[in-house]
Amino acid sequence: MSFRRIQVGALAAIALLVVAIVASGGAERGPLAGRLIVVDPGHGDHDRGVCHFPSDLIEKEINLDVARRLERSLKAAGAQVVLTRTDDTFVTLDERADLANRLGAHLFVSVHTNRIPNHPECFGAQTFYHPSSQESRRLALLVQEELLRIDSENYRRALPGDYRVLRRTRMPGILVEVGFLTNARDRSLIATEAYRDAVAASITAGIVRFFAESPEPSSAVTPVRPAQPGR
Ligand SMILES: [Zn+2]
Repeated sequence: MSFRRIQVGALAAIALLVVAIVASGGAERGPLAGRLIVVDPGHGDHDRGVCHFPSDLIEKEINLDVARRLERSLKAAGAQVVLTRTDDTFVTLDERADLANRLGAHLFVSVHTNRIPNHPECFGAQTFYHPSSQESRRLALLVQEELLRIDSENYRRALPGDYRVLRRTRMPGILVEVGFLTNARDRSLIATEAYRDAVAASITAGIVRFFAESPEPSSAVTPVRPAQPGR
């Protein structure tokens, strides 16, 4: 083969590669294609959240790890995902909500880890939604249903909660508590990668169902909530 033919062949191969990269980058496939989801790992830096030091479980670290797994799971379903923090930094509640608003995200998912002092018997992952948004409630019910599938003992229901990040975001949003660090059973689950992956997969499954039952972008019908001081 002449040098010129090799050159032409190489150029053609590069052109094909560029076309392939542009095609794969420009059009995600999957049930969440075209959806932008902001995932919010709670706490960070000096704000450690709930801690259980005998087992070295620290909420800010758990939240970020589960959020990363959720990001991978959502992307595998075709979604675009933006995290409110990608490392151990402090981000205020308002900055987290404002990021989602500024990006015009379709959904906001905050990830936390629970505790209930003096009630070590309480266990189970639980989903919260802001009571002002019916779409958030619908999303929370679906995600909670999926979370119950991975834990046959968990009987918790989705509940309304006046969380500041949910009040301030203008799209459907939920806050998922992955379990209780005050409960020995939950601690042993949360310590495993398998449980964290299962939680991420459940949240994704709930989100896929949410959009499957509502083909139109739902942010347009969500009322804007007035900003109030509080948690
Ligand atoms: Zn928290």
